[in-house]
Amino acid sequence: MTRIDIPADSLFGVENLPYGVFATRDNTLPRVGVRVADYVVDLAAGLGDDVFAQPSLNPFMAQGATSWDKTRARIRELVTGDLAEGTVFAIGDVTMHLPIEVADYVDFYASEHHASNLGRLFRPESDPLLPNWKHLPVGYHGRSSTVVVSGTDIIRPNGQRKGPNDPAPVFGPTVRLDVEAELGFIVGVGSRMGEAIAPDEFAQHCFGAVILNDWSARDIQAWEYVPLGPNLGKSFATSISAWVVPLAALEDARVPTPVQDPEPLPYLRGEEAWGLDIQLEIEWNGQAVSHPPYAPMYWSPAQMLAHTTVNGAATRTGDLFGSGTISGPERDQCGAFIELTCGGKEPVTVNGEKRTFLEDGDEIIITATAPGPGGARIGFGEVAGRVVPARKG
Ligand code: CA
Repeated sequence: MTRIDIPADSLFGVENLPYGVFATRDNTLPRVGVRVADYVVDLAAGLGDDVFAQPSLNPFMAQGATSWDKTRARIRELVTGDLAEGTVFAIGDVTMHLPIEVADYVDFYASEHHASNLGRLFRPESDPLLPNWKHLPVGYHGRSSTVVVSGTDIIRPNGQRKGPNDPAPVFGPTVRLDVEAELGFIVGVGSRMGEAIAPDEFAQHCFGAVILNDWSARDIQAWEYVPLGPNLGKSFATSISAWVVPLAALEDARVPTPVQDPEPLPYLRGEEAWGLDIQLEIEWNGQAVSHPPYAPMYWSPAQMLAHTTVNGAATRTGDLFGSGTISGPERDQCGAFIELTCGGKEPVTVNGEKRTFLEDGDEIIITATAPGPGGARIGFGEVAGRVVPARKG
């Protein structure tokens, strides 16, 4: 038997208990575990429950909120007691897998600072915010098959681009590869076609949150996005962190959203339309270059899910929706390099070099933490990715 020593300042104390899918050298079958301090506890072995002897969290998520709450209480008891041999692994001895089987993937655009900054860069001649922006959470459908777990290499995408002064489009590797620091929210229990999820029903449907990096090829995006929105400039890769922080762990992080003026339509209102006080950090080749705050995000996660379903669209276990790039009001709070460098005109210094967009070999690590009970912090872990050269087009 063994006991886990949980330091008081651990980002993975008993108030967090994020879920992930892991494998070990001696047992390469991916299965569900929970992170505690610098250890992973095998839940199939520890709780003797086959719902965790699965390569994704989907079967457990589908059980619903009552089961999530009961299981969380059982896990807290498990990890603070004596654990049998073979149920606990050091974090350095496990390989992490994609934690969920991603169903549909939608990405929103919920930061007013980001939407305004991008509006100024992409449409300098008009109002930065389009007329719909304060009436509904704007979003687009992304590609779920290219959602990958933290640590997966990102192949520089090929595509069409056409600069304002180019006479015709050219084809080749993107020269403006960028990141977007976001949170991703995961649907545990879906909704039938024809059924809308009100903001106050959010906790019955949303299982938890991850850090998300929406890799973006700005030159491909700028040429293709009119009039139907992002497509190949985004669909080549989206990375998520390996640990899913349960919604229950984020109760102390709840904050009001900024004042929403004009008042949203009734289907977007509710007591549960809170925001989250989550602090992110972006590291570029080991150097922290930005600290985006989640708290000023205009639209709340519950409003994004309510909007997704208000037309009767169905949702499923494993649906993932991104918040959109998280940017605060200051330059060093921007969640994308296109903003951080003013469209590439004002480079930032990374390890002594002037940089704008990503080069082959660059590594990006995004981390996030939130307040927990009694001054504790809740950690999300990280979402990491390294850029590797484009395939021959
Ligand atoms: Ca995005």
